[in-house]
Amino acid sequence: MRTFDYARAESQPQAINAAAVDGNVFYLAGGTTLLDLLKLEVMQPNRLVDINRLALKDIEPLADGRLRVGALVSNTALASHPLVRERYPVLSQAILAGASTQLRNKATTAGNVMQRVRCNYFRDGVSACNKRQPGSGCAAIEGLNRSVHAVLGTSDHCIATHPSDMCVAMAAIGATITVQGPNGTREIDFANFHLLPGDTPWREHALDTRELITHVTLNAPLSESRSSYLKLRDRTSYQFALASSAIIIVMQGGRFKDVRIALGGVGTRPWRATEAEQALIGQRVSLEAFARIAEIAMKDARPYEHNAFKIPLGQQVIVRNLRDLTA
Ligand code: SF4
Repeated sequence: MRTFDYARAESQPQAINAAAVDGNVFYLAGGTTLLDLLKLEVMQPNRLVDINRLALKDIEPLADGRLRVGALVSNTALASHPLVRERYPVLSQAILAGASTQLRNKATTAGNVMQRVRCNYFRDGVSACNKRQPGSGCAAIEGLNRSVHAVLGTSDHCIATHPSDMCVAMAAIGATITVQGPNGTREIDFANFHLLPGDTPWREHALDTRELITHVTLNAPLSESRSSYLKLRDRTSYQFALASSAIIIVMQGGRFKDVRIALGGVGTRPWRATEAEQALIGQRVSLEAFARIAEIAMKDARPYEHNAFKIPLGQQVIVRNLRDLTA
């Protein structure tokens, strides 16, 4: 067991000040990922800053139609909030498709955004893993790479999928992440928050040192829209996605007027399929059109030894979701 400091913050400035120490410092909220990784000694902090007492647990509708969600709102509270169920059903469905009731009760909105990968080589603490130990290599590329490894957005340095369901729905809805740090407050577009692995897979997000997520603000819902989250996995509960889709559509005169498609389980970050969205706008409902745009969505996919099945599965999860939404 490694020792580390523990500090409990009562305010955001106090939390940011408490994070000003040499070495690894992590903010502790629900702890559903962090505590696992501490026990495995994959994350080795010098200090944990407990932020559970910060006043970041509210969900507030804004005058411009957006919805502001505090960083510490639990996954359960977010999925069951009446405004989320009414205005963002895709988000409620995606959260409820993830983890277990007990985990959703503890896990927070910001913690879910910051979720670490589920790659076994990352978690075993000994294999070559550029994410855990920069420059050591990637055991997954030549190893077992079936379920939690991606076909979109990979690099020669890391191929792990982003594991969140919630973030896939947020990628489709569009959102802004508000962060506070030593230099004040700033906003980051959700689409730019999670970084592709490239040749620096240990850099997973756009946060600077000591910055703390305070809110995630969802874009106003598209008017007259319908939305749905479909998740395909090895078993029907408590399992990460092999492929999932969050889709929002607006129909007019029998044609697609607006479309948002985001994918999970296949990409190294929550994956927005913008080219496929554009290709579907103006089309009529047909399985042929859905199959065509699903091909577009997966056209840049690069399979590895055990996960080539994710390319047709990624197409299926788009076609089936669109078919059910337009039935
Ligand atoms: Fe590490 Fe990423 Fe390779 Fe997994 S896929 S071993 S997380 S570098």
